[in-house]
Amino acid sequence: MELNHYNDPSLIGGCSVPVRVNRKTKPEASEVNVGGIKIGPHGVVVIAGPCAVESRDQLHETAFSVKRSGGLILRGGAFKPRSSPYNFQGLGIEGIKLLKEISIETGLPFVTEVMDTRQVEFVAEHADMLQIGSRNMQNFVLLKEVGMQKKPVLLKRGMMATIEEFLLAAEYILNQGNEQVVLCERGIRTFETTTRNTLDLSAVPMLKHLSHLPVIVDPSHGTGHRWMVPTMAKAAIAAGADGLIMEVHYNPEEALCDGHQSINPEEFSALMTDLDKIAQAVGTRLVKPEPSAK
Ligand code: PEP
Ligand code: MN
Repeated sequence: MELNHYNDPSLIGGCSVPVRVNRKTKPEASEVNVGGIKIGPHGVVVIAGPCAVESRDQLHETAFSVKRSGGLILRGGAFKPRSSPYNFQGLGIEGIKLLKEISIETGLPFVTEVMDTRQVEFVAEHADMLQIGSRNMQNFVLLKEVGMQKKPVLLKRGMMATIEEFLLAAEYILNQGNEQVVLCERGIRTFETTTRNTLDLSAVPMLKHLSHLPVIVDPSHGTGHRWMVPTMAKAAIAAGADGLIMEVHYNPEEALCDGHQSINPEEFSALMTDLDKIAQAVGTRLVKPEPSAK
């Protein structure tokens, strides 16, 4: 018997939603505070930055362009989960220090990935939000570890995870006492080969139907194509996303990681103008920077 789950028989195939993340337990939408920036029901928050931190110059230039265009949170990977062990693995601790430096310079809070429990304490000390990547969505030891931290967590959907498994992963974090969790749809693996992943935008209304946690979308990993990012970013807002996380690089052609899906600062700036219009058209708004943030 599952005392801590609610079954929803109206859902095709059924879905058992664990109690802490369940909207039946907490009907009002949750808000997650990332270094003063609130992700939740009051508008759309944009997180942007490079896939990986590569150098001080790269991060500095990209972060300031993100800020100029209205991005509210900086992203950047220091510990990178790469499919090939021969690819750039990230700057590690040096990357976290650079993120902290540039975060202070720009005033933008930052999110960065943790891949291993041994990194959690150090990263939690410096970062404003801890990212659990797709490949670690079911690393239950890591989920428990970030659940014991005081920092918010960005939980990315596993590339083969069902909605139920995704919510169960989030439940692991909440169970440890950390309720500051944002869910991120970043595409799932399907039979399709023209896109890197299949961006499941239907997950947005479904997750928001089943859970009170904020939901954001990553159109960069979701498509794998720079030219598709603006279209799918707009579609994500229309689907009800509380935010977006996108890869922006000052020179995508030279990027050490995911340049093919990174937009440049000019494209990002143009997109932000469009996102504002889309947000208003669907009855929400793009959250704008406040001088007092952070
Ligand atoms: C990333 O955000 O750079 C990343 C590796 O994402 P994902 O875990 O979704 O592949
Ligand atoms: Mn990436």
